[in-house]
Amino acid sequence: TDPAEYIRNAIRSVPDWPSPGVTFRDITPILQDPRSFRVLVDLFVYRYMRQRLDLVAGVDARGFILGSVLAYELNLGFVPVRKKGKLPYQTLAEEYTLEYGNATVEMHTDAVKPGQRVLLIDDLIATGGTMVAAAKLLQRLGANVVEAAAIIDLPELGGSDILKETGLPIYTVCSF
Ligand code: IMP
Repeated sequence: TDPAEYIRNAIRSVPDWPSPGVTFRDITPILQDPRSFRVLVDLFVYRYMRQRLDLVAGVDARGFILGSVLAYELNLGFVPVRKKGKLPYQTLAEEYTLEYGNATVEMHTDAVKPGQRVLLIDDLIATGGTMVAAAKLLQRLGANVVEAAAIIDLPELGGSDILKETGLPIYTVCSF
């Protein structure tokens, strides 16, 4: 079968979580199964192995899992984009709007050197707020964000369209 379809079939949909009416797309079954974990990682490895990259930036917390494995396989460094208050050294912050209230992502000020080519990665794009904020943060540090990648896109929530409007190339394995 098609690897993207194989991955899509391995994702668990949990109704009414974290709140009524919301369906949570859960990637833990992919990670738990050695075969689907390998299929997933290899999809990203083959996509990026011929690209000139310096770093993978993973978004807290599920972006760390795929991002760090991918960085290791591609012989790249890994840098975390974290939720507010987690990083010990000097940080740069970017605030963004959620459905109710705000959220903030942070990076260490020395995480990226100006001009470095960075792949940004998370598990899922919903409204796109997280990816846009993370990309802005990287760009403020002087990074060249080559692509924003995720396992899952939820196109009805408009995030992938917003990301395209910012001019940032995006890649997702599957959508719901
Ligand atoms: P956005 O900022 O609205 O695009 O939301 C994306 C962020 O929320 C990502 O960091 C995801 O990990 C998380 N997220 C939102 N919905 C889901 C879901 O259904 N499954 C897994 N993560 C989700």
